[in-house]
Amino acid sequence: MAEETIFSKIIRKEIPSDMVYQDETVTAFRDISPKAPTHILIIPNYIIPTVDDVSEKDEQVLGHMFVVAAKIAREEGISENGYRLMINCREHGGQEVYHLHMHLLGGRPLGPMLAR
Ligand code: 5GP
Repeated sequence: MAEETIFSKIIRKEIPSDMVYQDETVTAFRDISPKAPTHILIIPNYIIPTVDDVSEKDEQVLGHMFVVAAKIAREEGISENGYRLMINCREHGGQEVYHLHMHLLGGRPLGPMLAR
């Protein structure tokens, strides 16, 4: 069993978050330390620690994360100008929380993809 992170408590609403979407498969909430006017995290409701742990059984939920990201982006009013979806994996990817999450970032030009 993968170890729980703070995100499991957010899913179960045991700690507060600014949740913008939840269904039986995924949960989305605003990042506590936003890097852009819209910064929302979209996560599976069960723990997949990293992208490296993804397997075929996860295909449906991972696909659903994209559907939900696009829906939230439209609701946030950032679809037309565009936005960035980002998933960090482990140390070199800069992953801090080991519960796979997609960052939805937008609301301003985001600049080059990577800092040098
Ligand atoms: P990572 O660096 O793992 O890709 O991203 C983790 C993100 O989770 C960070 O952007 C961080 O600000 C956010 N985060 C960490 N703890 C919490 C929390 O308790 N609540 C919320 N809403 N976001 C969190």
